[in-house]
Amino acid sequence: MNKRKYWSDLVYQLTPYTPGEQPKDRLLLKLNTNENPYGPSPLVIDAINNVTGDNLRLYPDPESDLLKQALADYYNIPKSFVFVGNGSDEVLAFIFQSLLKKNLPILFPDITYSFYPTYCSLYGIQYDTISLDKNFNINLDDYLYENGGVIFPNPNAPTAIPKSLFDIEQFLKRNQNSVAVIDEAYVDFGAESAVKLIKKYDNLVITQSFSKSRSLAGLRLGCALAHEELIQALVRVKNSFNSYSVDRLGQEAGIAAIKDSSYFLKTRNAIIEAREFLVQELSKMNFKILPSAANFIFTKHNKVDAEELFNKLRDVGILVRHFNKPKRITRYLRITIGTTEEMKQLVLILKKILE
Ligand SMILES: *Cc1c(COP(=O)(O)O)cnc(C)c1O
Repeated sequence: MNKRKYWSDLVYQLTPYTPGEQPKDRLLLKLNTNENPYGPSPLVIDAINNVTGDNLRLYPDPESDLLKQALADYYNIPKSFVFVGNGSDEVLAFIFQSLLKKNLPILFPDITYSFYPTYCSLYGIQYDTISLDKNFNINLDDYLYENGGVIFPNPNAPTAIPKSLFDIEQFLKRNQNSVAVIDEAYVDFGAESAVKLIKKYDNLVITQSFSKSRSLAGLRLGCALAHEELIQALVRVKNSFNSYSVDRLGQEAGIAAIKDSSYFLKTRNAIIEAREFLVQELSKMNFKILPSAANFIFTKHNKVDAEELFNKLRDVGILVRHFNKPKRITRYLRITIGTTEEMKQLVLILKKILE
């Protein structure tokens, strides 16, 4: 078929995002997409079971009011400052369309979440990428020129390095003419959330995900937190696209996940502990590890090539992530943190491979 004839020009020139592999066969360890090794809270499973009956014939609440209220209570902000969607990827898509499509290029790091350039090409948004410094840090002083918006993850991906709230506020003070979006997908694993700044800076948008620290990647749930007039822009896009975006299961599960803070803390702390264990062991084995505040590490071996390690791990059923570009990160592997037991297994196998 002549695709060129039928496809829109836009679709023809798109380069879609490549998600981490979800293999069908069982692996020994799946450490490639930053999923949580623990299941969701048992209260989440109960909540989902409670809505899988006859009610599913009815549309969900289009505003997800109870879920928004649960998030508002948790963060101590008004409900009108909360937006929810199908994963933070969808929320980000709405943000790009409604708040970042301006007449000036938007700015983001050269090494970061690769969905950002993809959204730019989908929505026709100009962008400049700003280099990370030599230690892979985001230097926000480099973003202080006229722009259509700024977006970066905190901690950054795939480097895992956090930015301090102090640095973020210094930046916000000096960037008052465009929206600043902080993608906090991994913030719960050791960085400080900027949610406490949204009342003070009405151009600040925070996005968060239920996929990582709340262990609900399979459900697709995320949120944006910002001044209500920015939130209204997102609601407009949502209601021009899919007004019932978050389904009944998602709304109930999200509420239960937010309310079960003891389960959240227990599993989150266990992952941080497993990360510290892995960092310690790998440092003894000639790996260099960037300082991580996430549920993954970014690491390179001083001698052995990353691709070779990736393949050898794969051969024994351990999947991690390796990026072929940009060149600056091709020597690194991104490894998701599992349970401490799983990290012990990984260390043993790496020792064998390196022998
Ligand atoms: C995982 C991730 C997301 C998307 O999370 P979902 O809520 O699953 O869509 C967004 N930003 C970054 C940096 C991520 O790593």
